[in-house]
This record gives sequence, C-alpha cells and structure tokens, in this order.
Amino acid sequence: MTAPIREPSFRESVDLMFNRAVALMDLPPGLEEKIRVCNATYTVRFGVRLRGQIQTFTGYRSVHSEHMEPVKGGIRYSLAVNQDEVEALAALMTYKCALVEAPFGGSKGGLCIDPREYEEDELERITRRFAYELIKRDLINPAQNVPAPDMGTSEREMSWIADQYNRMNTTDINARACVTGKPLDGGGIAGRVEATGRGVQYALREFFRHPEDVAKAGLEGGLDGKRVIVQGLGNVGYHAASFLSGEDGCRITGIVERDGALYNPAGLDVDAVRAWILKHGGVTGFPDATHTAEGATLLETECDILIPAALEGVINMGNAERIKAPLIIEAANGPVTAGADDILRQKGCVIIPDMYANAGGVTVSYFEWVKNLSHIRFGRMQRRQEEARHELIVRELERLDHMLGDAWNLSPDFKKRYLRGADEQELVRSGLDDTMRTAYQKMREVWHAREDVQDLRTAAYLVSIDRVAASYRAKGL
Ligand code: NAD
Repeated sequence: MTAPIREPSFRESVDLMFNRAVALMDLPPGLEEKIRVCNATYTVRFGVRLRGQIQTFTGYRSVHSEHMEPVKGGIRYSLAVNQDEVEALAALMTYKCALVEAPFGGSKGGLCIDPREYEEDELERITRRFAYELIKRDLINPAQNVPAPDMGTSEREMSWIADQYNRMNTTDINARACVTGKPLDGGGIAGRVEATGRGVQYALREFFRHPEDVAKAGLEGGLDGKRVIVQGLGNVGYHAASFLSGEDGCRITGIVERDGALYNPAGLDVDAVRAWILKHGGVTGFPDATHTAEGATLLETECDILIPAALEGVINMGNAERIKAPLIIEAANGPVTAGADDILRQKGCVIIPDMYANAGGVTVSYFEWVKNLSHIRFGRMQRRQEEARHELIVRELERLDHMLGDAWNLSPDFKKRYLRGADEQELVRSGLDDTMRTAYQKMREVWHAREDVQDLRTAAYLVSIDRVAASYRAKGL
C-alpha cells in the first residue's frame, strides 16, 4: 500500500488496513464490501435536567457486523466521540472478536461528554437515560447487543446500565448478561477490571517466546530489563505497566498523560504515579522523574517497547519518522494511523496490532457473559472434586515418600500447591492466557508462511476476515 497523502480519519485508517489485507485474499465478489461496511449507526440526542436546566447530550451505538449475535463493544465517554470514531471502533470489534474466537459481532457506543465535569449522581442520571434510549431499541440486550467499559467508563457505569435494563425487563432471567465489565458483586467476573492490561502482558510474553519474532524487531532475550514507555495510565495502561514491571522485570522508563510526561531511565514506580494522578489529577509535580509538558514528545524517546494505551491517532504521519521504539504494542484502539503504519513498517518497527493486543477485555467479557447466562460461577461444581482426586495422588506419593526414606522426598510446598483446585480468577487467567497464545500463534503462522504478508496487522486481518467470511458463507450469503 502506498502511504496516504493526507492523514486519514480513524475509520478511513481501519478501512485502508482492511483493504490492504483483502487485496491478498480471494473473497467472492461483493463479500469484501459486505464485511467492510458498518451495518448501522444509531444517533440519539436526549435531555437531562441538571443544575436547574436541561442539558442535551449526543450518543451513538454503532453495529458493524451481525454475522454473529449478540454484537459486542464498549461504551466510551469522551468529548471527542463522533460517528466516524464509533464506526471505526465497531469495525475493530468485529475483527477482534473473530481473531480471538469470541462468538460476537462487532459494535461500539459513545457519548459526547467529559465525565470529569459531572458529579457521580449526575453521571448516573445521564448514563441511565442514555441506556434507556438504547435498551428500548434493543441496542442493549443480552441476546443482541452487549456493551462493556471503554475510555471514560468503568464497572460503575456498567452497573447502572445493568440495573436500568433490569428495571425495564423485570422478567428477563438473563438480564445481567446485557452488559459486561460489571462489578463482582453485581454479576461481574473475577479478573475483568484488569483483563485488557493482563492481555497486553500475555501478548508480550507470547511474542517473546518466539526468538525469530523478537529478532524481527531487532531485540533479543526476554521481557526482563526491557525499557517500556506507556501512554495513558488509565485502566489498560496502568494494569499493563503494573504487571510488566511487577511480574516480568520490565523497566517503565516513561509515562505519558494528559498534562505531560514523566521520564526516569532507572524506572518509574507505577503504583506511586497512579496514586499521584488520583490525588493531584495529573502527573505534574511527581517527584523522582523529569516532567515534560509536551508529553507526546516522549513517544519519540528511545525505549524497547512503546505501549500507546490512551487514544487513537497518536502515532501519525507527523511523528512516525521520529519514533525510535523497535516494538509497539497497541493497547489502545487505533493509536497508529494507516499512514504511520506504512512509515513504521518500512523502518522495520514491529507492531503488535490493537485487534489482538487489547483483546483481553472482550475475551474476559465473553467469560462474564457465559457466567451470567449459566447463572453459576466458574469452578463451583468442579473445584472440590478436583481437590479430592488430587488428594488420592498425594496420598500415594506420600506412601512412596515414606517407603523411600531419604532417597526421595516430596518438595516442601508440593502438597499445598497441588491440592488446591482453581478458583474463578485462576480459571479466567488461564482462559485468557490460552486465548492470547492461540491467537498470536495463528497470526504469526500467516506472517511467516506468506511472503506477501509483511506484518502482524495484515496477518491479523487475514485470519479474522477469513473467519467472518466463513461465517457469512455458512449462512448461505
Ligand atoms: P481510561 O479512561 O481508563 O484511561 C485512559 C487514560 O488515558 C487516562 O489515564 C487518561 O488521562 C489518559 N489520556 C487521555 N488523553 C490523553 C492524552 N492526550 N495523552 C496521554 N494520556 C491521555 O481508558 P481505558 O479503558 O484504559 O482505554 C484506553 C484505550 O484502550 C482506548 O483506546 C480503549 O478503546 C482501549 N481499550 C480499552 C478496553 C477496556 O477494557 N477498558 C478494552 C479494549 C481496548
């Protein structure tokens, strides 16, 4: 693909990347167009009486593909929300779900609002009204359309949405499955809050298990000691940075936030920065680091791994040439524009694409939805039975231990570790890890097997478009 002359919009970027991939496929005539287009976008304007006057809000819910239902995708609260953005995000959800084999079509929603300007009770009224508008049109429904958190929303908003749906559908026994990312006490699942960040960690771990792939980025070794710069210390960025530094030995050398960036080549304490942001509203003034007001310039600083985890379009034709990171993992949706993607690819930078990198969220949302529909927590039936069977083996091993005396002994904590059956959180992590490994292996298989596929993004599109096409063919289209 030749680089676009002007910076494409987010949706154009997604379409350009899609077109690059389908050019390498042999789809029946017309199917390519059917998969690419967004099926429908609903725009709603509604009023809420706040502070003595009616305020009008604009919201969207876009359905990109219903080849599988329900369709799935988060709800974003941001002043920058617009139809183009929501449609681009909905399209990415279609490809993402296909790539990680979550049985959903793609959707996304957004509300033009800066949540920081409102009190909690005001936000609740706005959210409930927005949800009401979507629920009455089946744009929130356990069988048809299931939202989740995204930028500016969290389990709090999801809990209000679930309650609103419940009030409007009092006899729906599956009401809780109308939205995912709910709090644990409100029908959520262990491990959902951190799932997207955890998925970013699992994606990087899997990447570093393949030395040829690591070499393609000009890197070597494992994650230990790698210098990482993160943009956005919100839900996704914070968890990814915290797991990578706390569990894999990465050094978080830079953190970019709304009010500037922090840099410390010796490594930043992620939890301390997070606590500082929560207390002071930004990174400014944080000790033990150099602060730069022009935060985006830190994206251009030398590091091993760059993790954009905030907004789309932050790596674009304006700064792509200056990006030094040899490996970018797109924790945010669409952080690299199509034009920048071309420039970076030519420079040899390896990009782990958004539709794979941040799929941990929808993967665990899928587990939550299944849990809600089955009305039982994962592991409840098997855990003690599993423990009882392990007990049998342990007893036999203890007998052997006794017989062999000093010649052979059980490791000190073997019994405790082996006897314990997995709880919900462990099962969720295991399912997420398996999903991230399997999807990466599928992508890299295409990346390495085909000479005309030069990057992981094209490989990811090929895998997912092929699956969506197969699903349409199975329907007789
Ligand atoms: P969030 O609202 O929790 O965090 C976003 C963070 O980015 C905040 O800390 C915010 O201050 C920061 N930020 C905003 N503007 C910035 C700027 N100009 N420069 C630097 N930092 C800025 O949002 P999130 O849920 O972490 O989502 C982040 C990205 O990840 C989005 O692209 C979203 O679509 C994607 N994503 C989220 C999930 C999820 O489960 N939450 C799942 C998949 C993908």
